[in-house]
Amino acid sequence: MAVYDLCIVGAGMIGSAAARHASANSNVKVCLIGPQEPKVREANSGNEVFGTHYDEGRIARATATNPLWANLAKLSEERYRELENLSGIRFYHEVGALTVGTKTGRFIEQTKSSIKDYSNVEMLGNEELESKFPYLNFADSDEGIFEKRHAGYINPRKMVMAQIVVASNQGCDVIRDIVLNIENFEMGYKLLSERGKIIWTKKVLLATNAFTGLHKLLKNPVSYQSMPQTVTLASVSENTAKSLGNMPIVMYEGEGGRSWSKSYPRGSGGTIHFYLLPPIKYPDGKYYVKIGHSDEILKGSLELTDVRKWYCGSGDDELERELYTLVETVFNGIQFESHYGDACVTMVTPGKQPYVDHISSTLAVALGGNGYAAKSSDEIGRIAADLIIKSKWTCDMPRENFKVKFCNKSKL
Ligand SMILES: Cc1cc2nc3c(=O)[nH]c(=O)nc-3n(C[C@H](O)[C@H](O)[C@H](O)COP(=O)(O)OP(=O)(O)OC[C@H]3O[C@@H](n4cnc5c(N)ncnc54)[C@H](O)[C@@H]3O)c2cc1C
Repeated sequence: MAVYDLCIVGAGMIGSAAARHASANSNVKVCLIGPQEPKVREANSGNEVFGTHYDEGRIARATATNPLWANLAKLSEERYRELENLSGIRFYHEVGALTVGTKTGRFIEQTKSSIKDYSNVEMLGNEELESKFPYLNFADSDEGIFEKRHAGYINPRKMVMAQIVVASNQGCDVIRDIVLNIENFEMGYKLLSERGKIIWTKKVLLATNAFTGLHKLLKNPVSYQSMPQTVTLASVSENTAKSLGNMPIVMYEGEGGRSWSKSYPRGSGGTIHFYLLPPIKYPDGKYYVKIGHSDEILKGSLELTDVRKWYCGSGDDELERELYTLVETVFNGIQFESHYGDACVTMVTPGKQPYVDHISSTLAVALGGNGYAAKSSDEIGRIAADLIIKSKWTCDMPRENFKVKFCNKSKL
C-alpha cells in the first residue's frame, strides 16, 4: 500500500502551486487530487465542485489597498517567468496596470501606500490620463497610478496547467477526482474519493476554496462567506482588439465620468467601483473585454448548497446589463458586438485575509482567496507547502495574519 507524505486536496490555483513547491523536494512524495474543469457547466451534469480559475484573464499587480495582498502578489509575480520557462506554458501578459480614482480619495491613497518601487510607477493627472489612454474616459477629479511593468494579467487556466506540468515532472501524482471524506488514523489519513478510490497519506493540505464546507472535510468548519460574482464579457472585433493591444488592466473607484451610465449601482460611499481587463481571445475565438464589480454592491452571500447552482448560471442578469452599460460608456469610440454574463464565487474570510494555517500538525489549509488570490497563488501555495511539510513559517509577514477563524469557537 502506497502512502504519500502529503496529499493536497483541490487542484486549483493555490493547490497546484502548493503541489509544485512541495514536490520540488524529491524526498517528499506528493499527490494532488482534484477534478479537471468540466467541458460544460450544467447543474444536472453531476459535477459537484467547480474552480474559480475557469477563465482566461485575472488581474496581476503588486499594488493593492491591503499591503498583505500587495506583498503576496509581488512575491508571486517575481516567479511567473520562471514558472513559464519551467513549464513551457505562457500565461503572463505584462500589459501594465492602471488604478484610477478620485484624487486624494481612500482608494488612491491606500493604493499609493502599497507602492514599493516608484521607478515602475507613473502618477497621472486627468489630462495625462486622457492623452495616454484616449480610448477611456474618467472624471475630471480623477487621478491615476500606472504600473508600467510587473503588472498586467495572467491566464488562470494556463497558470494552473503550468503548475501541474512542473509538479508532475517533479514526481507529483495527479488524481482527477473529488475527495468526499477524510478519516484520521494514528499514522495519517485515509481519503475516500467520489470514484471510490482510497488514498493513504501522512499529511493533508486543503485548498478547496469555496467548496471547503460542502463535504465536511473539516470537523470544525472554517468561517467564510461565498460571494456570488457576475462579470460581463463584451466582445469586440479582432481589429478593435488589436487597436487596444497596449491597453493595461484597469481598477477604478471614484465619482465616475460625466458620460458614464447613471444607473450603475454605487457603493456605500457613493462611489463607482469596477475592474476591467483588455480584450483577450477566448476559447470561442472571439475577443472580449471583461468588466467586474466590487462586493460592496452585492445583496448578500450564497448558501453553501447554492454555490454549485450559481457556478452553472450566467450571474445576476440585471447586474450583467448594468456592467455592460457601464463599460460602453467608460470606453470612447469602441464598438462592442455582443455581450454575455459569467458567474463565479469568491471565498471571503472575516478579516479578508487568506487562511494558511495548521488545523493539526498533519492537517493544514490554504484557503480564502477573497477575490485576490489568482495573482498571489504561487506565494500562498509556497508558504502552505513549507508549513505542512517542514512545520515552518517561511514568510516575512506575521503568521497571525493568516490564522484560521472557525465557525464554532471550540477548536477541534
Ligand atoms: C469573477 C472573478 C474575478 C476574479 N478576478 C481576480 C483577479 O483579477 N485577480 C486575482 O488575483 N484574483 C481574482 N479572482 C480570485 C481568484 O480567481 C481566486 O482567489 C483564486 O482562483 C482562488 O484559488 P483557489 O486555489 O483557492 O481556488 P480554485 O482556483 O477555485 O481551486 C479550488 C479547487 O478545489 C477543487 N475542489 C473543491 N472541493 C474539492 C474536493 N472535495 N475534492 C477535490 N477537489 C476539490 C475545485 O475543483 C477547484 O479546482 C477572481 C475571482 C472571481 C470569481
